[in-house]
Amino acid sequence: MKQTIKKYLLLLVSPLLMVGCGSAWSQGERRLINEAAYSRMRVTTIACKADSLLLRTVCSPLTRKHIEAPEFGRLVASMIETVMDPENEGVGIAAPQVGILGRVVVVQRFDKAGTPFEVYVNPEIVARSESVALGPEGCLSVPDRREEVARATEIILRYRDAVTFEPREEVVEGFTAVIFQHEIDHLDGILYIDRL
Ligand code: ZN
Repeated sequence: MKQTIKKYLLLLVSPLLMVGCGSAWSQGERRLINEAAYSRMRVTTIACKADSLLLRTVCSPLTRKHIEAPEFGRLVASMIETVMDPENEGVGIAAPQVGILGRVVVVQRFDKAGTPFEVYVNPEIVARSESVALGPEGCLSVPDRREEVARATEIILRYRDAVTFEPREEVVEGFTAVIFQHEIDHLDGILYIDRL
């Protein structure tokens, strides 16, 4: 009898517990993402002191709960809209560039047919080639500047799938590998001008 009551109570209480569980995204992050409502977000730049501090912050890894929340889809849609802005076009963007301190980047895959923009969660570079090449780089967060930066020509990239959260690993080379190095630096608070 006691057991039955316990079970019954648990059934009553569990939906309440679920409602009470907060989102993986903070209130501030949710506000920023939901206000953008799938459209472009303001790009943080070193011209603004508060933005500068944010761009110098090490971002936190995302959990499965983060990517399963509705905010994740909205954030990546907004990041893609932002990086594709014809007025201020880029080839990649990292979450801190739209004010979110989570480890997610959008990279244009110049090594794939149709050069699609793709989303990478918790990306990390696990190995870099010894061979390095100089190439021109710019950054949406560093307005009106372009410099030559030395980057590894080939990397081994590890990340989480943006839909299933499954771990993935792949070899990336050429210009796309440069974009990954630039964007992953952003997640560690590093800007390309630090690498000159
Ligand atoms: Zn950048």
